[in-house]
Amino acid sequence: MSRDTTGSRDWHEKAVKPAKPAKGKGADKGKAEEGTLNIWDRTGPEEREEIEKHARDYMRFLTEAKTERKAFELVLGRLESEGFSDMSKGGPVGRGGYLKHMGKLLGAYAPGKAGPEGGFNVVVAHGDSPRLDLKPRCVYEDGALAMLKSNMYGGLKKYQWLARPVAIWGFTALKDGRTVDFRFGEDPEGPVLTITDLLPHLDRKVQREKRLSEAFPAEKLNVLAASLPIEDREAKDRLKKAVFKLLEDRWGVREDDLLSSEIEIVPAGPALPVGLDGSFIGGYGQDDRLSVYAMAKAFVEAETPERPLILLLVDREEIGSRGATAAPTRFIERLAAAAFEASGAEPSYRAVLEALAASSCVSADVEAGTDPTFKEVSDDLNSAKLTYGPCVVRYTGSAAKYGASEAGAEYMAKIRAVYDNAGIVWQSSLLGKQEEGGGGTVAQDLADFGMGVVDSGAPVLSMHSPFEISSKADVWMTYKAYLAFYRSV
Ligand code: MN
Ligand code: MN
Repeated sequence: MSRDTTGSRDWHEKAVKPAKPAKGKGADKGKAEEGTLNIWDRTGPEEREEIEKHARDYMRFLTEAKTERKAFELVLGRLESEGFSDMSKGGPVGRGGYLKHMGKLLGAYAPGKAGPEGGFNVVVAHGDSPRLDLKPRCVYEDGALAMLKSNMYGGLKKYQWLARPVAIWGFTALKDGRTVDFRFGEDPEGPVLTITDLLPHLDRKVQREKRLSEAFPAEKLNVLAASLPIEDREAKDRLKKAVFKLLEDRWGVREDDLLSSEIEIVPAGPALPVGLDGSFIGGYGQDDRLSVYAMAKAFVEAETPERPLILLLVDREEIGSRGATAAPTRFIERLAAAAFEASGAEPSYRAVLEALAASSCVSADVEAGTDPTFKEVSDDLNSAKLTYGPCVVRYTGSAAKYGASEAGAEYMAKIRAVYDNAGIVWQSSLLGKQEEGGGGTVAQDLADFGMGVVDSGAPVLSMHSPFEISSKADVWMTYKAYLAFYRSV
């Protein structure tokens, strides 16, 4: 260590403010003092009943929100039923208002006791989940079968999608401006769809002796579609034509309409309770619709909060947040400006940016829970445990914090105080060991405005799989945590 010889002593003394002593003795009763009790240990029969009720409602949401469009529609529907109005038309709002974009990006504002000039309490979650999309040209026939070609979206473990029931949830925009919304494969009696796999008797060279990353090429994720040819025996491509006929008869979607369609392949079937004690929830898309559900419920229940609130439902997080409906599109600036107008404040560019920089944000995203079967990838001291409540993840990124947004000490203190004061059972965690891999969230996109941001969400097992697992207790506590944050000063 070298001695500091820069500047005069005077300058230094003026520059260094004396540190403020912490207020009150034992003011912070942190989670470390709470010992090893989990949420179940700390809840009585009444709260457990609420946890169950909450879980049932959440499972219905998961079952109905298997695409980013559906998540958007359900949240928008809830906002409208609560009296939130469309702010794109201008004018004041009562309960609050929303802005929407392209059917996938949604922002809502609720006034607080304080005006928007001093900043918002923002919660952001993403409505998209890893899945397979059908390619624009997707129908082909080979031998006796008609098949559909898919395209990966987000971080999939490809083998998990083989030999299981899947459904298609489609949205087609027609040239005349009409849109068609359809789904297939969700009737419990069937039919469903499936992506075929190879039998073990013949998989030695094609799969078994290969590295996992090479054994399942994306171009082999093909959906089994049909085997009944059209009547005309002289025709060419009789199976392919049969598929197009089905699409047209059922939904009025013709071959070229597939070019303006979004057809998503998702796991078929409902979200379900899991475990001998039924204490878990299994279902597709909990990353990040668990947070979407909790955020939306907390937002509408926050009632006359101290600060104005923002709910932000973004899309395309799973592919790196690129595109017109993703977090970095500055949609929040438009929303903040509309909030200024609605509250009668002058939405100068400067004022909007100042308000955003003074805002506080929770990036609501699920966290990798520690799996007893794969403990080697997590650092015990900093790993997330199911049933111990929402995680607060100071930073994400990979290895040396590359690409990480990190909450500063002061902002971490604020979040600790908010959660502790509201009696939230929560835990501090990081995403696994430093060099095992890594990942990021939309936290960075909000931090770009200079606001305090921290990732906080429930721990999940089998994340990004067709059947992700959460704890009913964590799902409940995560909603309570977001509610506490929304109500904070
Ligand atoms: Mn996520
Ligand atoms: Mn994810």
